[in-house]
Amino acid sequence: MSDERIIRGVMASSGIAIGRAIRIFDPSNISYNFQVEVDDTAREVARFRESVEKCRKQLERMQGELRGSSIPESSYFVDAHLLILKDKLFVDRIVDKIQAEAINAEWAIQQVSGELYEAYDRLHDDYLRERRIDLEDIVRRMLHNLRSKSSSTVPALSYDAVLVGRSIPPSTLFELRSARVAGLVTETGSPLSHTSIVARSLGLPAVVGIHDLSGISSGDPMIVNGSRGFVICDPDPSTLKEYRQKTRQQRSTLRRSSGTAPCTTQDGVRISLGANINFCEEAQSAAANRMEFIGLYRTEFDFFREDGKPSEDDLTAQYSRVLQALRPAPVTFRTVDVGPDWKSGDGTGSSLASRGLRFSLENQDLFKLQLRALLRASRNGRMRILLPFVSTIDDLDAAIEIIAGVKRDLARHHHRYDRDVPVGVMIETPAAAQTCDLMAPRVDFFCLGTNDLIQYYLVIDRSDQSAAQLYTPFHPAILRCLHQVYTLLQYSGRPVTVCGEMAADAAAAAVLLGLGFTSLSVSLSAYPRMRETIAALNLGKLRELAGEIMKMDSPKNIEERVRSTIG
Ligand code: PEP
Ligand code: MG
Repeated sequence: MSDERIIRGVMASSGIAIGRAIRIFDPSNISYNFQVEVDDTAREVARFRESVEKCRKQLERMQGELRGSSIPESSYFVDAHLLILKDKLFVDRIVDKIQAEAINAEWAIQQVSGELYEAYDRLHDDYLRERRIDLEDIVRRMLHNLRSKSSSTVPALSYDAVLVGRSIPPSTLFELRSARVAGLVTETGSPLSHTSIVARSLGLPAVVGIHDLSGISSGDPMIVNGSRGFVICDPDPSTLKEYRQKTRQQRSTLRRSSGTAPCTTQDGVRISLGANINFCEEAQSAAANRMEFIGLYRTEFDFFREDGKPSEDDLTAQYSRVLQALRPAPVTFRTVDVGPDWKSGDGTGSSLASRGLRFSLENQDLFKLQLRALLRASRNGRMRILLPFVSTIDDLDAAIEIIAGVKRDLARHHHRYDRDVPVGVMIETPAAAQTCDLMAPRVDFFCLGTNDLIQYYLVIDRSDQSAAQLYTPFHPAILRCLHQVYTLLQYSGRPVTVCGEMAADAAAAAVLLGLGFTSLSVSLSAYPRMRETIAALNLGKLRELAGEIMKMDSPKNIEERVRSTIG
């Protein structure tokens, strides 16, 4: 009998991944469950014993402090925790599990503690319920200690893995990129969340917004169909064969479609098509595929790659390598944009009030450090500096003043840099859309960030899949906003590139072209497809279409009208 089952979700990153599940638990205390090689069990046992030892020292320190406090009895709970650490039923069973089942320490801890929780729950005893809470606390501490001990967390795996979790923070995905992660599936998130964007830039097929993933355990074989938005659990051999064939086709299509000729519409109008990247390593593949330019390099992922403050020299070297790899193509470095979904992946990270340029203005030491690194690297190619999430002219003026100060300082210390590095602004807040003409004389170019623009215009969280039908670029308010931005900047002499995900959807890109925008930037994975899409579009017809849809009132009808016109 077949165990194969299909679970539907939402497409977040296209492509097909075949692998075995690795479950990710509580996003604030990520741990991974996986099988280890038999030879590695001794290392896992040692990791586990170290974490027990670390817990013991932490608890003894805590005990000492509490005993000296005004309420010495408060140290009693620590005694209970220390007893658990000495409990053979707990500690030795975890060691046995690691050895007998060849699994990592985290998985063994979860299994043994899970069995004990169940036993406590069955006994309906208040005293034992308290013991359960103590146990939960110790487990949390152990998992945390294991994690901080080896922050890269997953060692080189001997099989392709599919990450499965309620949510997976973008930084975690990044940490795992050198492990054999083939794809990911999550319960929360949407195609516009940063986790999905990172998945696309790492070329990892992803499905998000899956209702319930609790039936999937670590080790289960699965297929992720990121192009159709579903996963297949425990696939039959015939399904596996079919999908292996599809992955081979996928690789050859990618090889075929990277282009060198300029991108033009069917009626011969030149469209600039650039690529968005999120990691410095992507510069190599962008260069190999001869991308015209990098319309957006989201630098925050590389900036916060290591915990703590990055080094100016390391960043300078990294930015120089990116510029050299892509020379003579221009590269748009967006300064750090820390957003609400940056830390946790579920929207509970930093505050909206401190996002993007505001974060940089509040943390000027970091901002100056990045600007110094950027400017020092600038002579290695064609750099553009882009300021994210700008909403007031005052903030923009402050940023421009800081850039000028950093330049003066570099000159004083005899550092050479490109004095004419263009500085631009992301139009991604309603305030920037309304005032971009006032910003134009102060800057050299603009990028239109439709991901945030739509979310703040329509008041729909871009990561909230449950409201995805309300988040639409075809809303008349968005069309009017785009038309207004185009009109305000039309004669400003400041080029505008659309770099939000809207540019990577055929129908939405058709609207952008029809409204007059001639420069788009999309993820590396969408680039070949969008070249083909643009080549099949007739700009004359799109202009007429834009005139028509500007008079329509229903997002659904507008979208249908556009899709039926472009075919
Ligand atoms: C945008 O908001 O459209 C954008 C490109 O920036 P990000 O997706 O990084 O917020
Ligand atoms: Mg944005």
